[in-house]
Amino acid sequence: MEEITEYDINLDSNLRRNPLDPERNGRTIVTGDHRKEFYIPCTSSFEESSGDLSDDSEDDSDDDEEEIQEDFLPLPPILPPDLDVEDPLVIDDWGFSAIATSVYQYAEDVLRKVWMNISWTVCHFHTLPQWLQDNDYILHGYRPPLQSFKRCLHSIFSVHTETGNIWTHLLGCIAFFGVGVFFLSYPTPELSHVDKAVFAAFFIGACFCLGLSAAFHTFLCHSEKAGRLFSKLDYCGISLLITGSFVPWLYYSFYCNFYQKIVYLSVVLVLGLTTVIVSLWPRFGEPKFRFLRAGNFLAFGLSGLVPAFHYAFSNSWALAVSQAGMQWLILMGSLYVIGTMFYALRIPERFWPGKFDIWFQSHQIFHCFVVAAAFVHYHGITEMVQYRVSVGECQFL
Ligand SMILES: [Zn+2]
Repeated sequence: MEEITEYDINLDSNLRRNPLDPERNGRTIVTGDHRKEFYIPCTSSFEESSGDLSDDSEDDSDDDEEEIQEDFLPLPPILPPDLDVEDPLVIDDWGFSAIATSVYQYAEDVLRKVWMNISWTVCHFHTLPQWLQDNDYILHGYRPPLQSFKRCLHSIFSVHTETGNIWTHLLGCIAFFGVGVFFLSYPTPELSHVDKAVFAAFFIGACFCLGLSAAFHTFLCHSEKAGRLFSKLDYCGISLLITGSFVPWLYYSFYCNFYQKIVYLSVVLVLGLTTVIVSLWPRFGEPKFRFLRAGNFLAFGLSGLVPAFHYAFSNSWALAVSQAGMQWLILMGSLYVIGTMFYALRIPERFWPGKFDIWFQSHQIFHCFVVAAAFVHYHGITEMVQYRVSVGECQFL
């Protein structure tokens, strides 16, 4: 059966705070001066029923998954190979009750294994394998390692610690995809191909960022390897969103300054590529590098202050507002910074561990701020293109 592990209650401040929390998948045992909390390691029933699955699952391909599923299905009832099932006498001879028992056992086996294949129960933080442990202020409601992409996909419709994270960005991705298709299908005389191309950079960045984030939160419990791969894709998506947000803003702000526009756009592309490379560093996703991650993307985002100040000082504030959408840029930047603070400081769950396990945890709040900031930016760059269309091309004296 399952291996029982023990967790010393004296080592964990959260447990000391509320050691007898009934939500816990564990029990507290007092022996002499020592109080220990015992947890059963968290596994899905699929995993429990096939001990060697963890090794196979490392391959992570659909083909492998199908092989596993096939291995997992029970064999049909065993009948003698030369049995003529059309002949009632033969059936009688072999024994009707034996066939009935065999069929019944087969049906029961199929039902039990199908149920085990789709079922799992939420787990406590301390029962998760180490690679799934990220935020120790979120105590209960975790998915176990599901070992199957199909089961991970199905899990988006059930309630667990990642439900809010998945849907906040999945809906955001769908919304930006819809807005993008609507915007880019404007008739060409109103918007030039170049206008559409710079807006496409933003929509691609937004859709990739939100879509890859939703995918990461969906598949992170598949296996350690899949979790690591999707976390890298998630971080690459953030870099894409920041880069894609810069492109239209720089393009319209420095519309009439060709060289400045090219220099700033080139610098942004280089910085975007650098953050992607940093994100691919294998240890970047570890919990202890939470601040490094937040700082990396914050620094990239805040590098926009340089062209913003440049524009504001070389023009008037009134022009910065009317032509460069500066007020929207400030609002967008503030939303990103506030959201990142929630994420890095893990507010509010750090103050009330276990109270925001499912809803309103810091990561969901961060996601909502990201979607809001992206929409604010969309509004800002839409005003900029409207201004450009209304005043026409640059007037050089
Ligand atoms: Zn996320």
